[in-house]
Amino acid sequence: MKAAVYRGPGNVRVEDIPLPPLEPGEVLLKVEICGVCGTDLKKIAHGDLSPPRIFGHEVAGKVVSVGNGVTQWRPGNRATFFHHIPCRLCDLCQARAYAQCPQYLKVGTTAGFEPAGGGFSEFVKVKDWITGGGGLIKIPEGVEPEEAAFVEPVNTALKGIEKAAIRPGQSVLIFGSGPVGLILLQLARLKGAKVFVTDLIPERLQVAKRLGATDVFPIPAPPLEKALKDASGENRDCDPVVLWAKERIDQRGADVALVATASPQAIGSALQAVRPAGKVVLFAQTRLGETAPIDVGHIGKLEKELIGSYSASVDLQEEAARLIFTRTIEVKPLITHRFPLEEIKEALRVAMNPSANSLKVMIQFPQDGMPP
Ligand SMILES: [Zn+2]
Ligand SMILES: [Zn+2]
Repeated sequence: MKAAVYRGPGNVRVEDIPLPPLEPGEVLLKVEICGVCGTDLKKIAHGDLSPPRIFGHEVAGKVVSVGNGVTQWRPGNRATFFHHIPCRLCDLCQARAYAQCPQYLKVGTTAGFEPAGGGFSEFVKVKDWITGGGGLIKIPEGVEPEEAAFVEPVNTALKGIEKAAIRPGQSVLIFGSGPVGLILLQLARLKGAKVFVTDLIPERLQVAKRLGATDVFPIPAPPLEKALKDASGENRDCDPVVLWAKERIDQRGADVALVATASPQAIGSALQAVRPAGKVVLFAQTRLGETAPIDVGHIGKLEKELIGSYSASVDLQEEAARLIFTRTIEVKPLITHRFPLEEIKEALRVAMNPSANSLKVMIQFPQDGMPP
């Protein structure tokens, strides 16, 4: 079968590899579509994990074969999955910190090599603790594969929204109008919040407006980095996003800020742009070793909370699937590019370089192939 194999930092190439052998309890899917996620891009760019691996975890596909002992699935069933499932027994699971559970951290779907998702491949197998642990989700009639592929990313966004504990009527400021920011926007609106969105790319903010943002703010030149340098000392209020938030949202700042951009400067802006005792939730800071310039007085004195949210929550799987399958949140407007596997390099390039006309990038496969 054809798969896009990660061979080292920045190096992904399409290769012919053997179909992974199916073991008891496992399910083999023919991949129909796989979203390109920001975490894949970071792993590929930074080379944090040893090659070879096959990334891609936002998958929708069709069951082609099942291992011994699998009774709930049969060939032809359409499915999407969570590539991580926690043990539900350890102390971290008891504390609902599922994404920190040692079992959760093992990747449970693979197309070969060290498991890493496996969605950038014609076929992917789902391991027994995923199929047995509720991680394989049936796609209902009438839902398209490209919609179903959003169940996992919507879960991760929903988890962050839960951590922010947004109440009706609150103001939420989102940094980043990319695919994740636009999902957060819709989820925050479902909680009854007024949502404000900021981004460097004005065209992306037009999508935010169409999806219900109360107001949007294109970060002006000079870029935020320079504005922040100017903002040291007594001129700290020069940060244009902070000024805008205080003028347009509330003089004290927003109730909640959600940071859906990898920019370290955005964290400092977000902390300043929320009111005393407000919350800042980080979504895009998924690597260890990253640092950011922040005024910790906003935490220690102004009692603002800086909260991290990583990966999905098993408690929210059903809700995430329901939001997609009932089209309560719209994901199709987020898809701007669909590439065949052969063009994965271009797909990764587009996803890695956000532009005026790009949002979510998908890898799409022909629909009728059978396993070789
Ligand atoms: Zn992802
Ligand atoms: Zn656990």
